[in-house]
Amino acid sequence: MILFPRVINFFKINVSAKELNRERHKALMQQVPMMYFILVANMFTLVWPHMHHAPMLLTLGVPIILTLFFIVRSYPMVMKIGKKVSYDQVVKDLNSTTPRAAILGVIFIIWAYFLFQYGMPIMKIHITFFLYFSLICCSFFLMQMLQSVVTLLIVILLPSVIYLATSDVMVFKSVAMNITLVSLGIIYLLFCQFQNFKNLIRQRSVLSRSKAAIADQADKLQTMNIELELTNVRNFKLANLDTLTNLPNRRSFFTQLDQLIEKHDKLDKKKLIVGLLDLDGFKRINDVFGHPAGDCLLIKASERLSDVLGEDIILARLGGDEFGIILTSPDDIENVLEIGAQICDAMRQGFHLKEASVQIGTTVGFVEYPSMASSSQLLFERADYALCYSKQNSKGSPVLFSTKHETIIKDVAEIEQTLNNADLEAELEIVFQPIIDVSNTRTVGFEALARWNSPTLGKVRPDIFIGAAEQMGIIGKLTTVLLEKALKAACEWPKDIYLSFNLSIFDLSSDATILKIVSLVQSSDFPNKLIVFEVTETAVMNDFQQANESLKMLKLLGAKIALDDFGTGYSSLSYVQCMPLDRLKIDRSFITNITTESNSRNIVQTILDLCNNLNLYCIVEGVETSEQLEILKSMGCDYIQGFYFSRPLNHQATIEFANRNENLPKAESLQEQWSRL
Ligand code: C2E
Ligand code: CA
Ligand code: CA
Repeated sequence: MILFPRVINFFKINVSAKELNRERHKALMQQVPMMYFILVANMFTLVWPHMHHAPMLLTLGVPIILTLFFIVRSYPMVMKIGKKVSYDQVVKDLNSTTPRAAILGVIFIIWAYFLFQYGMPIMKIHITFFLYFSLICCSFFLMQMLQSVVTLLIVILLPSVIYLATSDVMVFKSVAMNITLVSLGIIYLLFCQFQNFKNLIRQRSVLSRSKAAIADQADKLQTMNIELELTNVRNFKLANLDTLTNLPNRRSFFTQLDQLIEKHDKLDKKKLIVGLLDLDGFKRINDVFGHPAGDCLLIKASERLSDVLGEDIILARLGGDEFGIILTSPDDIENVLEIGAQICDAMRQGFHLKEASVQIGTTVGFVEYPSMASSSQLLFERADYALCYSKQNSKGSPVLFSTKHETIIKDVAEIEQTLNNADLEAELEIVFQPIIDVSNTRTVGFEALARWNSPTLGKVRPDIFIGAAEQMGIIGKLTTVLLEKALKAACEWPKDIYLSFNLSIFDLSSDATILKIVSLVQSSDFPNKLIVFEVTETAVMNDFQQANESLKMLKLLGAKIALDDFGTGYSSLSYVQCMPLDRLKIDRSFITNITTESNSRNIVQTILDLCNNLNLYCIVEGVETSEQLEILKSMGCDYIQGFYFSRPLNHQATIEFANRNENLPKAESLQEQWSRL
């Protein structure tokens, strides 16, 4: 019972053994045509001696019909050799092999049986040999299809052996036994061979699977490598690129600079130039339009800079609105100031943002390696110095660090040291410059200007020692000493003349200094309402909130606030509106060319109109000539300060100057004047 399914199984083609079936099919397609050829040859050699003994149908009919059948069968097989055959076709062909072998076996055995009837004994032996040779031939050629071999054995061997064994002829009996033994041996051999064939195929498929697995592993490894590389690239980008502008970042800038310095040293190349630039007015745009607008401006600015600089010049964003550049080509180094001017020109053109079209400026400072600085740190510091120098002294034009600046740095260091040890009470002095009402040339107030007469350095310019004190963080000390002196002096002035006093950016951001100022004002006999504090635009813009708080506190005392040097910074009108301002002082840079340049005249006129509209008291600074005065008068300017009327005066001279008022006509009552403040 168990045997039956196994037998059925043996004759069935296992469809899942794809590899094996394909190989079997391939072998059959190559072998079966050859098998047919041998069978044809066998048939004709068999019928040749039978020609005149058996009917034509048996001697010629059967072989010719079979030969034709073999040719028809062989043709598609030969055509399939070396071609890709679908697996369905493979299974179909294999499945049809055993039934065909059975039919062929039956035809052969029947044909042999009939021929047997006509032959002489020797011919009968010939037929027997034909049958068994054909069987052996078929068995070998069909060895990959054991089912077919077994079928042939059953169909041919079994009946023929029974027939021969039961005959009376001894020779036939012996042949039957012989053939049975040989056939069993052959079957055993074929089974072994088939097993080997199967093993071979299995090993081959295992091998090809491992090959595929290795290839797959290699693919995965490659993908992993690519991913690793991509991660490395991503990490490198994160570490070295500024994410907003995609320019090299600060770290990358200094790495490149160090590498270039090293390379240049090795190759004994002489020069490099490092530049620093920042965007003037960027903070204002950030404050007014918000950070997205600021970001957009930075992106556009960096694109414009890249366009101007080209590929040879290294450009990096160092942070905020600060950019670094490195020039390496001799041509660029030769024309560094020209390149700086191109940068400034290009950046002056408007930027169109989603929020508004805006305009900014750029300040650039350069320094040369190795003549002016020999390390990346010093290069950076000196380029920064050149940048600051440009901001203060030559806004809009690039500055190349030179020995002149080196001297200034040394001087400043000396000044700083001397100032640190100075007896401020004794060494600081105040001079006063009158502010004149142009309608009657009466003095309405004096601006207090600091003077330092150092026992070792002599007279030091106020902008220099004030700047040095700011850098050293001791400006608050100077301010309080100066204010005390100024208030004391002002108490001796004729009535109603006000005192204008300059405050530093650092005074406004220091609560301690502001409180000290408040206490000095409160303890002074000079009327609070006659005190004006002058602050610059940059001072206010640096920290608008803090500055505004300080100014409000000073206003609570009754003091007035003036915006100094108006027009030189980048403050917007929105700042003017938000600040507790009482007056504006138009910077003298607009006055210098007022007689020759209509542009300056237009700016001054616009500011005067603005003051009128905002009800602000306006003072024009730096008037040196009568021509300038006449123009300003015709423009409706009321108050003037400048060398034309007087240079800054010492205390005694101030009192004398103020007393001139007694001889001058009064244009309006003091009450009226102050009501306008
Ligand atoms: P500032 O506040 O703009 O002061 C006016 C400056 O212009 C003064 O220079 C004055 O002498 C000068 N000036 C006035 N009229 C004319 C003119 O017609 N032509 C020319 N060429 N110059 C004129 P000074 O005294 O050298 O002061 C320079 C700067 O130093 C001041 O500019 C101010 O920013 C600062 N400063 C002076 N004293 C003090 C102070 O007590 N505290 C603070 N924080 N800064 C001060
Ligand atoms: Ca001033
Ligand atoms: Ca001024």
